[in-house]
Amino acid sequence: MLGGMQDWPLRVMRILDHAEREHGTREIVSLHAGGEKVRSDWAGVARDARKLARALERLGLRKGDRIGTLAMNHGRHLVAWYGAIGMGGVLHTVNTRLFDDQLVYIANHAEDRILFYDSGFAPLVERLKPRWTSIEHYVCFDGPGGPGDLSFDALLAAEGDDYAWVEGDEREPMMLCYTSGTTGNPKGVLYEHRSTLIHAMMQISPDIFDLSARSVVLPVVPMFHAAGWALPFSTAMVGGKLVYSTDYTPGVMCDLMHDEGVTHTAGVPTVWLALINYVEAAGRDLGRLGSVHIGGSAAPRAMIQYFTDRGVRVGHAWGMTEMSPLGTVGAATGDWDDLSAEQRLDYMCKQGRVPFGVELRTVDEEGRVLPRDGRSAGRLQTRGPWIIRQYFQDPGGEVIDEDNWFDTGDVAALHPNGVLQITDRSKDVIKSGGEWISSIDLENAAVGCPGVAEAAAVGVRHPKWDERPILLVVRKEGQEVTPQAILDHLAGHVAKWWLPDEILFVDSLPHTATGKLLKTALREQYRDYRLSSAA
Ligand code: AMP
Repeated sequence: MLGGMQDWPLRVMRILDHAEREHGTREIVSLHAGGEKVRSDWAGVARDARKLARALERLGLRKGDRIGTLAMNHGRHLVAWYGAIGMGGVLHTVNTRLFDDQLVYIANHAEDRILFYDSGFAPLVERLKPRWTSIEHYVCFDGPGGPGDLSFDALLAAEGDDYAWVEGDEREPMMLCYTSGTTGNPKGVLYEHRSTLIHAMMQISPDIFDLSARSVVLPVVPMFHAAGWALPFSTAMVGGKLVYSTDYTPGVMCDLMHDEGVTHTAGVPTVWLALINYVEAAGRDLGRLGSVHIGGSAAPRAMIQYFTDRGVRVGHAWGMTEMSPLGTVGAATGDWDDLSAEQRLDYMCKQGRVPFGVELRTVDEEGRVLPRDGRSAGRLQTRGPWIIRQYFQDPGGEVIDEDNWFDTGDVAALHPNGVLQITDRSKDVIKSGGEWISSIDLENAAVGCPGVAEAAAVGVRHPKWDERPILLVVRKEGQEVTPQAILDHLAGHVAKWWLPDEILFVDSLPHTATGKLLKTALREQYRDYRLSSAA
């Protein structure tokens, strides 16, 4: 028997239609490097997205085609998001901080047919054009672009704004984000209209991001990181004002927050550290800021205290690209009024509780479910309707078990009140300033250096970057090799910001029974190693 209700497919463009119709004059502000401020509004974004959708069709793009962007946070980028999705495309936001081989790999793997880019990345785009095999068109967001490229503004100027979004099933894909938080090549997470829409409905709720039509949202998280933490969708859903900046200098951000009346912001701990240092040194304040969401890495206690002392709610968030990205957020509990300030801070240092839609459990090495006793730490698994089933075009197939549980690669304890506490990581990666460094890639590159017998890359705590890599090296017998020689060798293989902060020579490295490096023991031993770069 059917119920008595209407239906429409849960497609993302309905969010923009709503923002245009109900909140059309609510502003989108973009501050560009050099101080230029560009103002639009939700009606303007919708109009330009329709023009862009027409232009994309004219260029020959069709439903399901991948449309790449290599850009910072700004209004034109937002138009490209909605224009690409509106014409039925799959928006592929490329992480600008990856190095050449990874950028080549993911654009080719995604089979991007077109790439939108900021002129700031023009040298990189020109360098990689010969290696990108599927891109037919290049569109520069802020200028004419390289030889043969198209200009974003010229594309829009040539089109009318009469366009009906491409319709289809709510389970069709609309966005692709690659994550390098895994071993091997980056892997693509393919979001669907439905998963994205219901994730946005969850995200606006009070215990999660608490967004409303009065919110003024400054996403510091890049738009390429895990769908920009989905803020371009959830802010549109409530008709909030969006404020973007391509300049992350703390003084510039602080001015922007004051000038635009920012109430909500979100980003990784590294950016807040810089902002706090600036605000203190310059004797300034945080303006109207009422809520800051900190995630990507654990939020330090002193940072949480700093914001809460100033009346700013901290939402300590845990999630991952594979989770669209939100998994948990710390929000006040039912017994909040009875807790002391210290108890509240203890609570906020943990990763928070799940919203409706996310389930968590921890299991031991044999796969037995662990109790929620706040002590038993095990592999953290999750499931829900905005959580990955399978990576994009990945030969490994589904990454969930028969009951839909996905292994996050995090190690955690769950508390009796449902609070998540991340304690470690089983995935062999290092997170520095919110971005991943593959320890295995570093090790493989290092053993290619003459004189190196074996190497292990380990993450060490760092006050600014959260973690930095160090490299433990066993020399080949009878051979001399200097740290500088290893660094010079690595520089030819990995991005500069991947280079280890220190190289330590050791006589031997611990191994498992099967001969693999015993990374857990090394991580444990060196986690609190004092780096001279951290002084
Ligand atoms: P990404 O897909 O790049 O967003 O990275 C997701 C991973 O970042 C998670 O699996 C965790 O390892 C880590 N992570 C995210 N948020 C937190 C947090 N609040 N505390 C500790 N680790 C976190």
